[in-house]
Amino acid sequence: CGIVGYIGHRQAGPILIKGLQKLEYRGYDSAGVAVHDGSSIQIRKKKGRVLEMASLYKSSPVSGTAGIGHTRWATHGETNDQNSHPHLGGNEDVVIVHNGVIENYTSLRSQLQGLGYVFRTTTDTESVAHLLSHHLEEQIKFGSDPEELATYLKAVEITLTKLTGTYGLVVMFRDLPDTMIAARLGSPLVIGVGKGEHFIASDATPLAGYTDEVIYLSDHEMAVLTRDEIEIFHRDEGQQKLSIQTLDQVS
Ligand code: GLU
Repeated sequence: CGIVGYIGHRQAGPILIKGLQKLEYRGYDSAGVAVHDGSSIQIRKKKGRVLEMASLYKSSPVSGTAGIGHTRWATHGETNDQNSHPHLGGNEDVVIVHNGVIENYTSLRSQLQGLGYVFRTTTDTESVAHLLSHHLEEQIKFGSDPEELATYLKAVEITLTKLTGTYGLVVMFRDLPDTMIAARLGSPLVIGVGKGEHFIASDATPLAGYTDEVIYLSDHEMAVLTRDEIEIFHRDEGQQKLSIQTLDQVS
């Protein structure tokens, strides 16, 4: 339902929580954040109000300057703590937040279970998390450099070709701590351009007060965000020129 992501020089947790509160108007049933603490991905998530998740976070905060958050409106899988986003994949080497519906998730799920992946939730989204982990492992097994962005991009690209349905999604990898990858098909995402920091969200409301420079992602585009750079790639047309727009000050 609602997505927010941050990579920059400030603590991510409080920015994500504030962003999710601004997205509350969309309606939701659970909320969560994932923060990269430099060596691992830490998740705090809970069924119910953002405020309840925020108090869980407060009692056990995570130090880190990159993270993603989500407010869920359940479509597949009941509403509970475990089914709340973000979702980890593989051996916790990847984390994802997702808006939309993965229509072929039951077949993906059984294929991945056949490969040994253990599912912790009943959502459609978790199959994407494990699929990412699987294709990352394949890339590395076939000789791609686990230190190179290209390896991770390829894993995301291949994963997207296997999905039927709609998505706005944002992914972080444990072993690529300074980068965030987003992709869109049928579910909106907007990038907020800052100085030494970047934001991503399902609509511009969480960006207010941080930046009024935005880039709207189009269908079949992937965005790579670091603290200082933004790159956008279209599935068929390759790397795109960045088209930065200014948000209407009044809105
Ligand atoms: N289909 C996903 C789920 O049920 C995402 C729903 C949403 O957009 O919040 O977990």
